[in-house]
Amino acid sequence: MLDVKYLEDGSNCNTPMYAENPEKYLGSIACHGCDKKAWYVRSYETIRAKRSACFAAHHIEGCNYKTETLEVEQGDDSEEGGADAPDFYVDLDKSKGSGIYVSTPANKHADKVDKRDRKKIVAGGDSGFSVNKTLRQILTMLCKRNAEVPLEKEIMIVADSGRPVIDGSFKDVLFHFSEMGNIELPENAIFWGEINHTIIREENTFLNSGGKKDATIIVPPYLHDDLIRNFKLQSLDELHGADVIIVGHGYKPEGLDKFFIHATFTKYMSFRKYKVTQESEEQAIQA
Ligand SMILES: [Zn+2]
Repeated sequence: MLDVKYLEDGSNCNTPMYAENPEKYLGSIACHGCDKKAWYVRSYETIRAKRSACFAAHHIEGCNYKTETLEVEQGDDSEEGGADAPDFYVDLDKSKGSGIYVSTPANKHADKVDKRDRKKIVAGGDSGFSVNKTLRQILTMLCKRNAEVPLEKEIMIVADSGRPVIDGSFKDVLFHFSEMGNIELPENAIFWGEINHTIIREENTFLNSGGKKDATIIVPPYLHDDLIRNFKLQSLDELHGADVIIVGHGYKPEGLDKFFIHATFTKYMSFRKYKVTQESEEQAIQA
């Protein structure tokens, strides 16, 4: 898209307007057609390709304003198999009625797996399952099959010390950003949603899901390099429009109508990044 709606007053915003005044528009723009939150995509030019600046959004199906294509980037945390296939899998078709099936890792002895826990997702500690990959799979499941997530299924995430960080059914420990204002949150929970834009202030990295009242993940300075390295980011811009899942403490500071989630380890986070392609890739570069 080359035009979006500025949510404060419904006026139009195009890419030069945005480039001139990003602070004004950050987190406050949406698609004219389907009202889904939009984000700004910088222009780039390499030997092989160039793309003009544009806007992208996770449009609802059939939206006529959609001119861009979003493609899930495959990284080391690949969700569709291959050499990097996760070491447990979520298969909702196979487990209709019973929820998620957690496979026994090949290198574990069967007598170590409690039969009652066969249908419980356990990750971290000495469980043999990576928290990162487990989160990535849950995120994929949520993004693809949101309506069918088995809320009664149980999940346990264990710290290296053996202490359970998360232990409960999805309905009690898993929250979309949009739900955070309406419920009492447990000490630690799994949060998920979309990142709309990122800002660095006083060395903290803020991963914002939208405007002033939408949830924000705070990545402290000591985690910044890990974030860049572990998720293979060239720039924080790559997280614009990404889906995120994070295990952490969600809270609302006194006097602010906004929720924050503090990132503690990058292994407690996962992203689904999107590659944006515009329909008219050969357009002149604008910004
Ligand atoms: Zn749309």
